[in-house]
Amino acid sequence: MDKIWLSSPHMGGGEQKYVQEAFDTNWVAPLGPNVNGFEKDLENYLGEKSHVACLVSGTSALHLALILSGVGYDDEVLCQSITFSASANPIVYQRAKPVFVDSEKDTWNMCPVFLEKAIKERISKGKKPKAIIVVHLYGMPAKMDEIATIAKKYEIKLIEDAAEALGSSYKGQKCGTFGDFGILSFNGNKIITTSGGGALVCNTDEVKKRAVFLATQARDNAPHYQHSHIGYNYRMSNITAGIGRGQMEVLDKHINYRRANNNFYKEVFKNVEGVEVFTESSSDYFSNHWLSSVIIDKKKTGFSREDLRLSMLEDNIESRPLWKPMHMQPIFKDCLYYGSKISEKLFDYGLCLPSGSNLTHNDKLRIKSSIEKLID
Ligand SMILES: *Cc1c(COP(=O)(O)O)cnc(C)c1O
Repeated sequence: MDKIWLSSPHMGGGEQKYVQEAFDTNWVAPLGPNVNGFEKDLENYLGEKSHVACLVSGTSALHLALILSGVGYDDEVLCQSITFSASANPIVYQRAKPVFVDSEKDTWNMCPVFLEKAIKERISKGKKPKAIIVVHLYGMPAKMDEIATIAKKYEIKLIEDAAEALGSSYKGQKCGTFGDFGILSFNGNKIITTSGGGALVCNTDEVKKRAVFLATQARDNAPHYQHSHIGYNYRMSNITAGIGRGQMEVLDKHINYRRANNNFYKEVFKNVEGVEVFTESSSDYFSNHWLSSVIIDKKKTGFSREDLRLSMLEDNIESRPLWKPMHMQPIFKDCLYYGSKISEKLFDYGLCLPSGSNLTHNDKLRIKSSIEKLID
C-alpha cells in the first residue's frame, strides 16, 4: 500500500504552462514576468494594501523582516515558542536574542497576556524588545486584535509568520496583512508549493523595494558593482514563480479540500471521549486547516498520541507530533521564556494527521479504519 503523507505537493495543472513560457522566452533567472505575475497574484489575493516580494524561502523572508525592523546585535525579539524552528533561527542570524512566549488554548498561538507580561518585564530590565514574531500555527489565526494592540501600545514591530496560513483570515482580514511584515512559505509541504520559496508581505511599495534591494545583493545605482550595504541572494527564480502562478489558480479549491479534511476528522472522532479535533473557536477565525490535528487525553482514551502515531505508521500512514516548543529545544535552552505549560502540554498530547488537499476517498477510508483499530 502506498504511503499516505502528512501533506504532499498537489499540482493544479496550470503550473507547467508558466514554466514553459519562462523557457520559451529565456527568462531563466531570479527575475522575470512570472516573478512579477506571482507577486501581483498574491497582492490581489491578500488585498490592496499588501506589497509582496517573492523570495527563495519563508526563512529568508523572516530574515529580511527582522533586518527591515532594525533588529541587530544583542537586541531581543519576542517569538511564539510553539512553532517550527525557522520562525526563530533568523533572530540568531542577526546575532539578536529570542525571548519565547507561551500560547493560549483557543488558537494555540501567542498568548497576549504572557506577551504583555514579557514586554513589561523586559522594559523594566532596560531591554525593550525590538520585534514580535507571532505565528498562525497550522493555519489557525492568532488573536490578532489583542496582539496588534499590544504591539502598537509599546511601539514594537510586529512580524506575522503566516508560512502555514495563506488563505486564513481573522475577522475577515487575511493572515499576513496585520503586521508591519508578513511572511509566507511555498515549501513542498505547505498549502501551495513552488518546490521551495517564500514571500515577504510589506505595507508599502517603498519597503518592498528595499526588501528586493537587499534580496538582490544590495547593489547601489551605478554602472559598476558598488555596495554600501551587506546584501543577500534571496530573490525567487522566474521558474519557481511560474509554479506559484499555477498554484494560485487552485489555492481556494485546495483550502476547501483541507477544510473538508478537518470535518472528516471531526466525524471520525465524533463519539470518542478524550480526543479533541483542533478547530476554530468562533466565527472570527477562518483557518485554511493546513494541518488537521488532535489532542489526545490518554486518561480518557486509553491510548496516547504516540500510540496512535505508531499504529498509523504500521498502516503506512504518516502523522507527526505538534511542533516541539522552542524553549524546550537544546539549541535555545538558555533563552528566556514567558509562560506556563500550555505549549508543553500541546506538544505532549497533540498529533498532526494526514491533511493533504490531494487525499483521496480511498486514503480517507484507510485513515479511518486505521484510527478505528485503536478506538474499538
Ligand atoms: C515552513 C515554515 C517556515 C519556513 O518556511 P521555508 O519556506 O521552509 O523557509 C517558517 N515558519 C513556519 C511556521 C513554517 O511552518
